[in-house]
Amino acid sequence: MVDTARRNTGAEGGVAGGVGVTALLVAAARAIETHRPDSLAQDAYAEHFVLAAPASEGWPVRPREVPGGDRDPLWGRFARYFGLRTRVLDDFLLRSVHAGNVRQVVLLGAGLDARAFRLDWPPGCVVFEIDRGEVLAFKHQVLDGLSAAPKAARVPLPMDLRADWAGALPGAGFDPAAPSVWLVEGLLFYLPPAAETYLIDTVDRLSSGGSALAFEAKLEKDLLAYRDSPLYTSTREQIGIDLLDLFDLAPRPDSAGRLADGGWSTAVHTPFDFTHRHGRGPLPEENDALAGNRWVFAEKPRP
Ligand code: SAM
Repeated sequence: MVDTARRNTGAEGGVAGGVGVTALLVAAARAIETHRPDSLAQDAYAEHFVLAAPASEGWPVRPREVPGGDRDPLWGRFARYFGLRTRVLDDFLLRSVHAGNVRQVVLLGAGLDARAFRLDWPPGCVVFEIDRGEVLAFKHQVLDGLSAAPKAARVPLPMDLRADWAGALPGAGFDPAAPSVWLVEGLLFYLPPAAETYLIDTVDRLSSGGSALAFEAKLEKDLLAYRDSPLYTSTREQIGIDLLDLFDLAPRPDSAGRLADGGWSTAVHTPFDFTHRHGRGPLPEENDALAGNRWVFAEKPRP
C-alpha cells in the first residue's frame, strides 16, 4: 500500500520536509492563536516546536510577528482556520470522554498535537498517538526538553498510515471491546484513497458501540483549480510548502457515506458553521481553498 517512490524517503520522514513539515505549519498557527487576544484555543507547547525546528526558522509564533496581521492569507486567515479547528476538535474530544464515558483516545496523524499534555482528561484516559517515527521523535525531543508531563497515559505509536497499521493498537493495550474516540485532523488528503478507506474500515472494526470519530475531508473534485488561491499561493511563496504537491490528488472516497452505510450516525459541517457558532474564525471568500473543507463527526450507536 505504501507509495515509496516519492514520499517515503528518509529526508522526508521527519519535520524537515515533505508532509511532516505540515505539522510545523499547524503548530505555528496554534502558537499565533494562543497569543491572540480573542484566542479560540490555547496550546503553550506549539511555539516550542516551531522554534526548535530548522525548517520553521523565522516563522511567526505571535500575532505581532505577522506583517499584515489578519490580512495575511497564511498567518492570518489560514492560521485562524487551524485555531478554530483546534478549538472545535478539543471540544469534540472532551465532550466524548466526559459525556460518553470513553477512556481511549486515538489521534491518527497526531503530528505535533499536544492534546495529551494540555487537555484535562478524566482519570484512566489513555491517548494513543500514531504518526511517522521521525515526527514523533522530534516531538519527544522538544517535549522532553520542556520536561512536559502528559495529563493522561500516552502511547506513541510510530507507524506509516499507508501501511497495515491495524494490529498496532491492540498490541499496545487498546481494547476494541471498550468505547473509543478517534481524531483524524488534517491527515486524510495526504493519504492515497485506498489508505483512507482502510483507515475508516479499521476505525469501524476497532470501535465498539458508543465510540466516536471526527475527521477532516476535502470535497473539491479538482484541488488544482485552487492552485492560484491566496491560501495556497501564500503558503507556497512565504514558507515554501506546496500543499497541492503533498496532497494525494486522486479522487477521494466518500468516507462519511461509508460510515453511514455501516450504521454510524454522521454530521457533516463546514468550518464556517463553527465560525458563526463562535463568532470568530474564517469566512468564505472568492477562490477559496477552504471551500470544500468539511469536518465530519460520527458516532457508532450502542447495541
Ligand atoms: N493532526 C495533527 C495536527 O492537526 O496538529 C498534524 C496534522 S499535519 C497537517 C499532518 C500529519 O500527518 C503530519 O504529522 C504527518 O507526519 C502525518 N502523516 C501524513 N502522512 C502520514 C502517514 N502516511 N503515516 C503517518 N502519518 C502521516
